[in-house]
Amino acid sequence: MRWRALVVLVVLAAGCAGAGDASSARQATTTGSSTTTSSSTSTTSTTVVAAVAGQPATATCPAVPARVGPDPERPRYRLRLDVQPAGNVVTGDVTVRFTPDVATDRLVFRLWPNGPKLQAEGARLDVGPVSLDGAAAKPGGLPNPTTLVVPLGRTLAAHRTVTASLPWRLTLPGLVSDRIARSGDTVRLGSFFPILAWEPGRGWATEPPTTNFAEASTAPTADFDLTVTTPAGLQVLASGVPDGNGHWKADAVRDVGVTVGRFRLAEGMAGGVRVTVGVDTGLRDDPRSYRDVAVRAIDDFSRRFGPYPWPTFTLSITPGLSGGIEYPTHVMQGPSTQGRTTPHEVGHQWFYSLVGNDQGRDPWLDEGLATWAEARYLGNLTTFRGRTVPADARGRTGAPMTYWNGRSSYYVGVYVQGAQAIAALGDPDRVDCALRHYVARNAYRVARPDDLVSGVRAVFPDARAVLARYGAVGR
Ligand SMILES: [Zn+2]
Repeated sequence: MRWRALVVLVVLAAGCAGAGDASSARQATTTGSSTTTSSSTSTTSTTVVAAVAGQPATATCPAVPARVGPDPERPRYRLRLDVQPAGNVVTGDVTVRFTPDVATDRLVFRLWPNGPKLQAEGARLDVGPVSLDGAAAKPGGLPNPTTLVVPLGRTLAAHRTVTASLPWRLTLPGLVSDRIARSGDTVRLGSFFPILAWEPGRGWATEPPTTNFAEASTAPTADFDLTVTTPAGLQVLASGVPDGNGHWKADAVRDVGVTVGRFRLAEGMAGGVRVTVGVDTGLRDDPRSYRDVAVRAIDDFSRRFGPYPWPTFTLSITPGLSGGIEYPTHVMQGPSTQGRTTPHEVGHQWFYSLVGNDQGRDPWLDEGLATWAEARYLGNLTTFRGRTVPADARGRTGAPMTYWNGRSSYYVGVYVQGAQAIAALGDPDRVDCALRHYVARNAYRVARPDDLVSGVRAVFPDARAVLARYGAVGR
């Protein structure tokens, strides 16, 4: 979710009948936290579920193929950070073992804190010298402040490995409604470190940053070994499985998010998934109400779209954030967002985290589907279907972020119209079934709109023609 849309979403949540209290309405129709998911796999171990058995056909849903596993040659990151709120700074280093599946002569890291919006708020990500396999790399270039190009000085063949290391230093902005922010000892860290922008099978993703776009547009599924240090007394919620000693392992995720602060915690289980919610002690929100929605949404979407594949899900509620921002297995939300934002962000765990996409090129692919998930959870699809799409957005669902830059129609054009396009495929239960097929075939991948068409074809042979009416895919 991006910040402009969040503002709109909050307005909508306040303005739409029942939207603000959707979680209690939902309680009557979903199962509680003790119910296990329909999955045939266990997610209780700390390793990722590489593949799951396919689901048999039912009267309304053709047999779902076994879920594809993550690339065994995926990048391995070691990421260390030291968070010093009083000094307004995070220092760290990143080492990544990278094995391309297409030959390349460079590495491209994205430095999203240097995008125009966060930069205007005082954020800055500086990087030190890069080493390649232990030797100093030739100085790279910055085609724009968010893109660091590191020449390899040779062609790295497909399936050959290079290890890159670099130190970095993040200057924090103040309390801004975005993925990087600081308020006192509370720090949100999303898209905050140098990350490889590789699209498997294609190459480097170099979409320009836009004013409402400050996130990892395309990152491949990877394994992260994360170490976080903070001043004494501060807590950390992060992507991955913690060992209790400032160390997390996040396997088969595209990115990691971290929130530091002082929290009131609530924990629960969604099937085998440990759910932890932390509410900033300066806020009045009840962490249990968020936990209950998160647990129900993970259960619900595991049935609809296939099992949630990671062992943990954490959610931080911190001040000064409108709506929420998704990272794999870690979501950041602002106050009073449990009813509507929570299911949307949990939906992103399937659409963005598990099935990745390029959020700069194809923003609708995760936002339209996360909005579909949200609407299914809340049972308010009719409301979304009834929304009028402004003229400058109509039929342009699939436009890239460069088109939406500065347009107020972005939320309705991408989120709402995206969900409308999906809804137009047919019966909602069969749409969920089709999305289960799409997830099974594209898990841990970076999908494109054409992958959605082929992913749902077993259920909706006419998907291309339907989605093309909304401009969501090419004809
Ligand atoms: Zn979203």
